Amino acid sequence: MDMAFTHVCVCTLLAFVLTWTLFYDTNRGKKATKSADAVVEERKDGAAADVIIVGAGVGGSALAYALAKDGRRVHIIERDMREPERMMGEFMQPGGRFMLSKLDLQDFLEGIDAQKATGMAVYKDGKEAVASFPVDNNKFPYDPSARSFHNGRFVQRLRQKASSLPNVRLEEGTVRSLIEEKGVIKGVTYKNSAGEETTAFAPLTVVCDGCYSNLRRSLNDNNAEVLSYQVGYISRNCQLEEPEKLKLIMSKPSFTMLYQIGSTDVRCVFELFPNNVPSISNGEMVNFVKNTIAPQVPSKLREIFLKGIDEGAHIKVMPTKKMSATLSDKKGVIVLGDAFNMRHPAIASGMMVLLSDILILRRLLQPLSNLGDAQKISEVIKSFYDIRKLATKMLVPHLKAEGVSQMLFPVNAAAYRKSYMAATAL
Ligand SMILES: Cc1cc2nc3c(=O)[nH]c(=O)nc-3n(C[C@H](O)[C@H](O)[C@H](O)COP(=O)(O)OP(=O)(O)OC[C@H]3O[C@@H](n4cnc5c(N)ncnc54)[C@H](O)[C@@H]3O)c2cc1C
Repeated sequence: MDMAFTHVCVCTLLAFVLTWTLFYDTNRGKKATKSADAVVEERKDGAAADVIIVGAGVGGSALAYALAKDGRRVHIIERDMREPERMMGEFMQPGGRFMLSKLDLQDFLEGIDAQKATGMAVYKDGKEAVASFPVDNNKFPYDPSARSFHNGRFVQRLRQKASSLPNVRLEEGTVRSLIEEKGVIKGVTYKNSAGEETTAFAPLTVVCDGCYSNLRRSLNDNNAEVLSYQVGYISRNCQLEEPEKLKLIMSKPSFTMLYQIGSTDVRCVFELFPNNVPSISNGEMVNFVKNTIAPQVPSKLREIFLKGIDEGAHIKVMPTKKMSATLSDKKGVIVLGDAFNMRHPAIASGMMVLLSDILILRRLLQPLSNLGDAQKISEVIKSFYDIRKLATKMLVPHLKAEGVSQMLFPVNAAAYRKSYMAATAL
C-alpha cells in the first residue's frame, strides 16, 4: 500500500467530513405543539404508559426493547408497519455491534443475510489502498468487524423483538403533534389505523421520527439544512471482488461507494450537491450515472456499478442534512436518532451513536422507580445531553492521534469503549 497515497485519501475524506461537521451550527425553526387546553376534553384517564415513543425505526424499536426490559410500559407509535425500503442505515460499524450487544440485541443482525465487512478499499486516480478495521485484542466481545445489510430487514426484526415483550404496545398510527401543558410535554395526538384522531399520555415522550421529523422543529427550535444528496440504487445478483471491503472511490463531484448489503445485492451510491441533481423522471440521472460517474469507477467495479442502472433499478435520493444536537427547553420530552442529530453518511456512524444514546438514556432512567416525577425526568434529560456530549469530546482527540482506519471508521472498539465506559460510569 502506498502510504503517501493513503494519507492523501484519508486527509481528503477527513477534511470532507470535518467540513460538514464544522457547518453543523444551530438552525432555528418552528412547529406548533397542540395546546393542552385543546385536548383536555379528549383526555380520558391517566397515562397508560411510562413512555411514548414516536417512530419504530432503528432507534424507537431498540429503545422500546431496552426500556421494556427494565419494566417500563412502552407505547410506541409507528406510521407504517411494512418493512421499510430505505437507502440508509445499511452499514453498522464494529462499535455499533458492540452497542447492540450491550442492549442484548446482538442476534438481530443474524438471519437477515447481513454481510461481514472488515474494512475498505479506497480508489483514487488509478491507485488503490486498503484500510482494515484495527484488530483490537483488548476485550472487544467479538471480532471487530462491521455488518452491512438491508436496513428494512433489520428494522423489522427490531420491531418484532420489541413488540414480543408484554409491556410494549406497538401501534400503527401517525403522530400529529405533541401535547404541551405549561412547557411540559404530556403526550401526543395521533391518527390511528382506523383513521381516528386520538391521544396518548405518558410522563416521558421520546421523539424518534427520523430525518424527516415533523416534531423536532417544535422542540429544538431549529431547522435542518440540506448540504448534499446521496443518490443510490441496488445492483442485484452480483458479488464484489473482496466483498468484505467497502469500496470508496474518490470521484467528482464527491465520493462514490459500493458495498455488499446482501450475499448478492450491492449498494451503489454517490454524492451530489444541491442545484446539481439531475432529474430521475426524465432520464437525466441515468445518463449522468453512465456518462459522468461510471467512467470514474475503476474498471473492475464498473460492470457491477452499471448493472443496477442497466436493469432499471429504482434510484433513490436522500438528503444529507446538517443539524445540531440541541436540548429542548420543553420538559418531559427527548429527541433521539436522526431527528436529533445527523452525521455525514460517509462515516456510517448514525446507528452506532444512536444505540449509544439509547444506552446512556436507559442507564440514567434505571434508578428511577417510576417516571412520574417531572423534575427527575428533566434532570435525566439534562444529564443525558451532557454525557453524550462528553463522550463525543473524549473521542475526538483520540481519533486525531490514531491512524488511517481510525479516521475512516471513527468509533472502533477501543476508542468507543473507553469513552463510553467513562461516560456511563454514573
Ligand atoms: C442517506 C443516509 C445514509 C445513512 N447510512 C448510514 C449507515 O450506513 N450507517 C449508519 O450507522 N447510519 C447511517 N445513516 C444514519 C442512520 O440511518 C440513522 O442513524 C438511523 O437509521 C436513524 O434511526 P431513527 O430511528 O432515528 O430513524 P428511522 O430509522 O428513520 O425511523 C424513524 C421512524 O419514524 C417513523 N415516523 C416518522 N414520522 C412519524 C410520525 N409522525 N408518526 C409515527 N411514526 C413516524 C418512520 O416511519 C420510521 O419508521 C444514514 C443516514 C442517511 C440519511
